[in-house]
Amino acid sequence: MIPHETQHAIPSYLSKDHIGAWGIFLQQVERVTPYLGELGYWVESLKRPKRILIVDVPIKMDNGTVVHYEGYRVQHNTSRGPGKGGVRFHQDVTLSEVMALSAWMTVKNAAIGVPFGGAKGGVRCDPRDLSMAELERVTRRYTSEIGFIIGPDKDIPAPDVNTNERIMAWMMDTYSVNQGRTSTGVVTGKPVSLGGSLGRHDATGRGVFVVGRAAAEKLNLAIRGARVCVQGFGNVGTSVARCFHNAGARITTVQDVSGTIHNDRGLDIDALVGLQASGEPITALREAETIENDNFWDVPSEFLIPAALEQQITERNAGRIQTRILLEGANGPTTPEADDILNDRGVLVVPDVLANAGGVTVSYFEWVQDFSSFFWSEEEINRRLDGIMADAFATIWETSRREKVSLRTATFIVACKRVLEARQLRGLYP
Ligand code: GLU
Repeated sequence: MIPHETQHAIPSYLSKDHIGAWGIFLQQVERVTPYLGELGYWVESLKRPKRILIVDVPIKMDNGTVVHYEGYRVQHNTSRGPGKGGVRFHQDVTLSEVMALSAWMTVKNAAIGVPFGGAKGGVRCDPRDLSMAELERVTRRYTSEIGFIIGPDKDIPAPDVNTNERIMAWMMDTYSVNQGRTSTGVVTGKPVSLGGSLGRHDATGRGVFVVGRAAAEKLNLAIRGARVCVQGFGNVGTSVARCFHNAGARITTVQDVSGTIHNDRGLDIDALVGLQASGEPITALREAETIENDNFWDVPSEFLIPAALEQQITERNAGRIQTRILLEGANGPTTPEADDILNDRGVLVVPDVLANAGGVTVSYFEWVQDFSSFFWSEEEINRRLDGIMADAFATIWETSRREKVSLRTATFIVACKRVLEARQLRGLYP
């Protein structure tokens, strides 16, 4: 095999020692490399994002002062199609994190077979500190700054942590105004009245449930009566809790930024959603006891669903977790060390890049519908979503049994082979 000239020239910020989520992704790539065969020749291209854009986002605040936020858009890989991935607004967003999230999008999109590369964006701001008008200005300025690298056939943003339909509508409008024409396909996760798709709002949670059910079948585990713990009660946490609740499971424990609540008989999910809608903390729920946040990890369950941020399950708490199936609704919730501990303890980990792919699957449907200006029914969307998720799970399950590897490594095998095959077929230019 002819070595790559570039193999010795790893920029410092891409090194394995770089602290943060990107380091985790590099470790995951290292784990899959022995399974890539001849395609391993191209693996170096996964270890460096194709394009990184760092932008200044200056905003006039309501009180007249000017504040500068850091914004990022990273296109990790576009071998299989345009970049695709969300935008998060969070005070702790870093370049390393956005790089890792963009790379996980590459893997996720390839794993489920949607024709996209991987990208991600972020603005380092705390939306809770912003008025609605300030939030709009942050969104519009950020969109304008990254405007020259996004587009329906270049890179298509979508919602992620702390971003939603409202923000997607502003992004679509800003991009369209700058282009001089309405371009609905530039973002997904839009309101339905602006070219959004039915089913997109709950798609990620629904997909988590569908693969969770498929995994449970493999373990002969019944959903009815199963105990479910959910960390995070945002878009993904609420939708997945509702799906499990509707299927007869008991959501015994929920944690969000306001605290952790528990009821062994099952929490009242409708009441919880109602509390949230009226701006009250989940800890205000009646018929639930509040427990210490750290004790969340000790609660016995059949399903544990992290649906918040990265690196929640580490070597520090992995040994305490008492569950059968860890279903990753969040991106990057489990470190490689924790992965090993959980695997050794017989916990089945269904990885983020498979489990939470329902969101981008329906984003793909939205993008297709926008191109054709022909919109599908919710039944049609859910049927196709369930089919794609179940097929992806079956392929990855079969790979994990054949290669005797975890579901995460199996997902990386399936996905990285697809990405690198495209890379090889396209060839190097010039
Ligand atoms: N932010 C979501 C994710 O992490 C959805 C991305 C999309 O729809 O493009 O998968």
